[in-house]
Amino acid sequence: MDIFKENNEERTPTVYCDVKNCTYHDGENICTANKIKVGPSHAISSIDTICATFKAGNKYH
Ligand code: SF4
Repeated sequence: MDIFKENNEERTPTVYCDVKNCTYHDGENICTANKIKVGPSHAISSIDTICATFKAGNKYH
């Protein structure tokens, strides 16, 4: 499945995130990445999911 198609900007929602030590975090509560990838495909509840786009380090702090 290709979730990163070129013409889907209008479908990208605001992502609220608490992971302030991520490079893409705005330091408040919003993810600033243009796109994120969440998995794994075998998740059966929200606690099973992770953001694969996470990158350590925050440029806003
Ligand atoms: S990339 Fe993932 S972990 Fe990082 S701020 Fe965005 S949603 Fe949060």
